[in-house]
Order: sequence, then structure tokens, then C-alpha cells
Amino acid sequence: MSRVYNFSAGPAVLPEEVLKEAAEEMFDYRGCGMSVMEMSHRSKMFQQIIDEAEQDLRDLMNIPDNYKVLFLQGGASQQFAAVPMNLMKNGKAAYVVTGQWAKKAYQEAQKYGEAVAVASSADKTFSYIPDCSDLDIPEDADYVYICQNNTIYGTVFHELPNTKGHELVADVSSCFLSEPIDVTKYGVIYGGVQKNIGPAGVVIAIIREDLIPETPYVENAPTMLSWKIQADNGSMYNTPPCYGIYICGKVFKWLKKMGGLEAMKAYNEKKAAILYDFLDQSKMFQGTVRKEDRSLMNVPFITGNDELDKKFVAEAKAAGFENLKGHRSVGGMRASIYNAMPIEGVEKLVAFMKKFEEENA
Ligand SMILES: *Cc1c(COP(=O)(O)O)cnc(C)c1O
Repeated sequence: MSRVYNFSAGPAVLPEEVLKEAAEEMFDYRGCGMSVMEMSHRSKMFQQIIDEAEQDLRDLMNIPDNYKVLFLQGGASQQFAAVPMNLMKNGKAAYVVTGQWAKKAYQEAQKYGEAVAVASSADKTFSYIPDCSDLDIPEDADYVYICQNNTIYGTVFHELPNTKGHELVADVSSCFLSEPIDVTKYGVIYGGVQKNIGPAGVVIAIIREDLIPETPYVENAPTMLSWKIQADNGSMYNTPPCYGIYICGKVFKWLKKMGGLEAMKAYNEKKAAILYDFLDQSKMFQGTVRKEDRSLMNVPFITGNDELDKKFVAEAKAAGFENLKGHRSVGGMRASIYNAMPIEGVEKLVAFMKKFEEENA
């Protein structure tokens, strides 16, 4: 059995330890004679799994008690609708458009109220984070929305926008648990877990309690999109994505063992620096993002020659480096180096890039 170095943007690499443990528990979870996939979500066994997952996440992120943690379904994309439905009390919100995911969220919000784009980096193919220190935010906006790490373009908000007292809502799908964040600076944090935490099918939403309305502000909103109903039912209004939650729980324990999010940040910075340092001195490869906005998680790069890009991706694949092709909308290459990508993976990739550069100079 052999494993490749998987640089996929999502679904993405998971810690081998977690996969092994899950494999060992597949047939018989802790003596109960069945897999977690097969057990009732109303069982004591599963309740313990979800409770522990929530507690470990609270410990890792230092989530205050006045925030609810929800394990939902429908992908991050479904929250593009749930956010305005549950937050647009005044029917208005400000969106910072820094890429496709932010744009999709912005467009979705327009269905439910007035979504205003207060900043954008579309003018330079989303290769930077716009200045958000003095945004023109409507007084009565219910929230300011960002996509914190832009998976496709490889940019990240190293500094949060000045929301001028408005609630901050962040899609953190591709930087979830990659470094510590101050939860109290946000009203809502949410993300699909398939980038940095677990299997597709689970979305985690961390929502300050006072922001959860009795019912969504949109008439006839689907029951499943009511944060209140999800919160009151402990994320089990219906059958939750049980197996996915179980794997997320294991990843949380792995992160704790790795030393928590401070340690993860140091590790991620070290990994990313290996790749960025190489790109900065290479004569063939170059990064596409403004230096100060570079993501620790997603690293897009190009040679400037489409044929050479193709050749690189093909030869890299043959050498055991998978999924380096850039997003279909931007081309080039992208290495996603999430928490579970070992440092050796990045070192070996850079060695391969050096060799490729020499051979194709
Ligand atoms: C992948 C991704 C999404 C979409 O996630 P789905 O779970 O497929 O809906 C949204 N936002 C960001 C930042 C992403 O990386």
C-alpha cells in the first residue's frame, strides 16, 4: 500500500493516523459490534462522539460559551443562503469580494436582501486582498462578510476588516484550524470541513447566540436552514452527517496531540515558507499573489507558459505529487498544503520543482 502526496484543494489530505484509526474501528467501534456509519444518531455512543467533537473544537479554538457550535450539512455553499436568511434583520449586508467563493456568497445574498459589494479585488484576478481599513459600510448593514482564505486564488486576510461596529461573518473553509483566531472578533464563523478538517458533507458553524433569530427573516425559509432549530436540536433536527462528524472529532484530537493551533500555525508557516522561498528565487516558477496577502494553505504558481505548466503537472503526477493543477478558472498550478500535508511533502515537491527547472531551462 502506498500513498501519494496529495495537494488537492478539497476534498483534501487527512492525517494518516486518523485514517488508520478509522480503519481499525470500521467493523467494530469500541466493542459495540458495528461501525459508526451503522449506528443510530440517537444512540448514547453517537451522542458521546458529537459531544466530544464539539468540546475538543471548543478547546482548540477557545470558543466562548456564548457561541453555539453547529454541525450542519449542505456544504459551505448552503450557508451562503443561510447567512442572509438568519442575519438580514434590516435586509442589508456588506460583502468583500475577494474571489469566486465570496462572489457566490454575495450573489446568493442578493436573493434575500440588499447585498452591497464594499470592496473587491476582481480588477487584478483576485490576486490581493483589498484595503479594508475604511470601507463604506451602510449604517444599517446587518453584517460584513468575508471569505477569509481564498482557496482558488491563494490569498488570505492576515488582518480582519474594520467592520465599524458591524458583525463580521467569515467563511473559513480553507483555513479552518490552520492557526489560532480570536473567535470574539466574529459574529459567525463557518466552513465546509473537506479542506482542512474532514470528509465532505459536514459544515461547522460557530455562531454567537444573540445573533440566532427565533426564525429566519426570510418568509418560508426551509426548516433545515433555521439556525435556531439546528441549535435547539443539538445539530440533530434530522440525521446529521454522523460518520463525517466522527472523523472531524478524530482530527480535533490529532490537532490537540500536535500541540493545538499555535503549534499548527508554526508548522504551517514553516511549510509554506519552503515553497514561497523557492518560488521567490526561481527563474521558471512564480507565485501569483501579492506577497503580503499570501495564504499559508493554498499556493498558486505559474511558469508563464501553458505548455510547460501542463508538462510540469503531468511529470509531477508521475512522480507521486497529485492534484497540482490549478483551479479550472485560473489555470497554472496550485499546491494546497493543509494541516495534514507533512513537511516532507513540501520539501520533496520543491526538490522536484528544482529538478524540473534545471531539466527544462
Ligand atoms: C470549497 C469552498 C467552498 C464550497 O464548499 P462546498 O462545501 O462545496 O459548498 C466555499 N468556500 C470556500 C472558501 C471554499 O474553499
